[in-house]
Amino acid sequence: MKAHDALYIDGEWRPAATTGTIPVINPADEQVIAHVPAGTAEDVDAAVRAARAALPGWAATPPADRAARIAALRDVLAARADEIAATVTAELGAPPKLAAAVHTGLPIAVAGSYAELAATHPFEEKVGNSTVLSEPVGVVAAITPWNYPLHQIVAKVAPALAAGCTTVLKPAEDTPLTAQLFAEAVHEAGLPAGVFNLVTGLGTVAGQALAEHPDVDLISFTGSTAVGRRIGALAGGAVKRVALELGGKSANVILPSADLARAVATGIANVMSNAGQTCSAWTRMLVPAERYEEAVALAAAAAAKYVPGERLGPLVNAAQRERVRGYIEKGVAEGARLVTGGPRAPLATGYYVSPTVFADVTPEMTIAQEEIFGPVVSILRYEDVEHALALANGTVYGLAGAVWGDEEEAVAFARRMETGQVDINGGRFNPLAPFGGYKQSGVGRELGAHGLAEYLQTKSLQF
Ligand code: NAP
Ligand code: MG
Repeated sequence: MKAHDALYIDGEWRPAATTGTIPVINPADEQVIAHVPAGTAEDVDAAVRAARAALPGWAATPPADRAARIAALRDVLAARADEIAATVTAELGAPPKLAAAVHTGLPIAVAGSYAELAATHPFEEKVGNSTVLSEPVGVVAAITPWNYPLHQIVAKVAPALAAGCTTVLKPAEDTPLTAQLFAEAVHEAGLPAGVFNLVTGLGTVAGQALAEHPDVDLISFTGSTAVGRRIGALAGGAVKRVALELGGKSANVILPSADLARAVATGIANVMSNAGQTCSAWTRMLVPAERYEEAVALAAAAAAKYVPGERLGPLVNAAQRERVRGYIEKGVAEGARLVTGGPRAPLATGYYVSPTVFADVTPEMTIAQEEIFGPVVSILRYEDVEHALALANGTVYGLAGAVWGDEEEAVAFARRMETGQVDINGGRFNPLAPFGGYKQSGVGRELGAHGLAEYLQTKSLQF
């Protein structure tokens, strides 16, 4: 696979300060497909300095002109869609259909939404005798995970650019090739030098240096709760803005009035997509006691359609596969009923895990509380609606969720859920709707106008 042996800093590809590299592995066949530079603190410093130097010019660029550059970026991404999808398949292992539709189509749509928002957002408003200005926060550090390689980048960089901020990206070490493609697209779209910079490297080296850099004004991080906590503490200590998009353990609440077959099938598909590596996945299915066995049978049948190596891709790396297998073993050890799947590797090569369904899961079990990040569903039984609500809200997380049933009842239930998003009866994903966590799922929102607001600070002029 084609890769740059350089970092993208100040509008050009330049060699890193040191010669270390990171191998990129195709998780479907475990082959090394490329190497990218392992950037260090010195490279991060060069990138932050480039972003700082570019800030006054970009911040002063009229929003309509920023919008035109972001629209050009969207167009380049769209023109290179096939290449993006192939790259995501190669470094993440996503099945080609998913790579094209979700991993490529979604970020192109999000880039388009920020071209439009940059052009239409009211960056000035009147409040009584004041004019309130929305100004860019400054230099943005974007630290992204591997699960949606391009989407995670675009969901941070596009609103930052729309706001007039400049950016330094440290992408996940597992998926740097998609990030390099994005940098090429930025270049082709004619964004001014230094407005976007890319430093590939290890989280503990380049990521840490970026999060600690005194000249970064805002850190936007998506990834594990453990790293998010540290970044939040760092940002607090330095009194800088921070947005954290962390884990989830979202509930798929099937009310007695629901279309059970549809709710279960959609719920299983929601978890199995991207091999379960989705922070907003509905990994806990909540079913009324009187329909429990029926739901378990439907779930097992739906999960069986996700054949590893076909519809179900591998996990991103060996460590994630081991982590997920460990959770499956823990589920069995703590007394849950393994309905289908299990810890055994379904294929001889590739980091695959079988689609796994657990029944008789009780709320204190590890598999009911912790984010597994694999193709694993836990089915819990509830006695009445109040019990369902206690279960739904009974984790430290609150990122997403679903409710199925009579619409009025479902909405009433959703209003009482401690979570950032709820899909009612299969409501479609909306790339303009604010996305982010209640409780320990994070701080701040991404996407749409709320996502743009993260990158703005306000100034009031009194007349
Ligand atoms: P992670 O380590 O938190 O990775 C997220 C990003 O942070 C990566 O770019 C990573 O670099 C970087 N990073 C790591 N340590 C850092 C540090 N000390 N300072 C600054 N940046 C740092 O997540 P992971 O290890 O890939 O995944 C572990 C678990 O996190 C998963 O099993 C899942 O539960 C959760 N997760 C959640 C999401 C989400 O969308 N919310 C996404 C991915 C993972 P490296 O790539 O070099 O580690
Ligand atoms: Mg990591």
